[in-house]
Amino acid sequence: MASCVLHVLPACFVGLFSGCCAMFFGGVYPSLGCSHSVVLNAVLSVVLTNNCLLFLVLCAKSPSCPLHQQRHHRAYQALFPPNELIYFRQHYHDPTLALCSKCLLPTLPRMLHCKHCDRCVLDFDHHCYWINNCVGYYNYKYFLVFILNLAAILCLSVYFNFLFLRQAYSANSAAYAHVAHSPLNYKLLVFLVVSNKQNEVAGILLIVCFFLAWFLFIFLYQMLNNIYLGINASEYKKWANVQSLVQAHLLYYNSENNTYYQRSASTLRPLNKLDHHSIPISSRTRPVTSIDNIDNIYDSGFAQNLLLKLASPFPS
Ligand SMILES: [Zn+2]
Ligand SMILES: [Zn+2]
Repeated sequence: MASCVLHVLPACFVGLFSGCCAMFFGGVYPSLGCSHSVVLNAVLSVVLTNNCLLFLVLCAKSPSCPLHQQRHHRAYQALFPPNELIYFRQHYHDPTLALCSKCLLPTLPRMLHCKHCDRCVLDFDHHCYWINNCVGYYNYKYFLVFILNLAAILCLSVYFNFLFLRQAYSANSAAYAHVAHSPLNYKLLVFLVVSNKQNEVAGILLIVCFFLAWFLFIFLYQMLNNIYLGINASEYKKWANVQSLVQAHLLYYNSENNTYYQRSASTLRPLNKLDHHSIPISSRTRPVTSIDNIDNIYDSGFAQNLLLKLASPFPS
């Protein structure tokens, strides 16, 4: 029953995408008068084919390679070492915690067990219900290109549907003269849309694009912002917690043992919950006054972060 529910959203996506394509190519595109353009047809073919292929790949491709990770555990550890802020070395050396309790795979920093897919995923970003699959180390690049491709389809769709309505206005501007004088007037747009069946199709597609664009562009912004910050979506809350400690002047750093502490009254408790050695505030410890003073070891700058996401190399 649960797996049936998980397949509803991918089916909805296929239905929505197919329906919009049928409406566009059945009612709008042939009337545009640009169907003979080789460049335009090529661009449309590429983005639409890309969308179908990437969707299939994302639904089918595993975001993790458990066997490879087991064989090359040390190399993966070197790829994502503990940062002693949200992932702690002690955790991965503790035999009782070094294995995932659900799938018994050796755990690594930035690895999370997805409850929907029942598997551990390296560099786990999130479980996407629209593809019913996790987004992680080995499929993030496809997901990012898929989102960019969808954004391109939305932009093209808005352009073509506006072009269609503009042409409808130009072809019979006298009939709309009593509504407004400007071709971009809001009232004129509504009147144009409801004036005949073909215009209605373009209007419905524009409304669909308008609502989808909000979700898509906000989501794309969040993805790019996470790449810029050197974090993944599943780490966002953990980093926000570190940031709130900094803002409350509760985060301390001891350079002698490279350990971060949280101030509690006059003592400092290690951020690592497995470490029970509290220490007093002294000259060896200093408060972290700004989040910029914290070195995020997973952040190598936007370009390098993006490159690592796109390349996702197999450590060997
Ligand atoms: Zn697991
Ligand atoms: Zn999942």
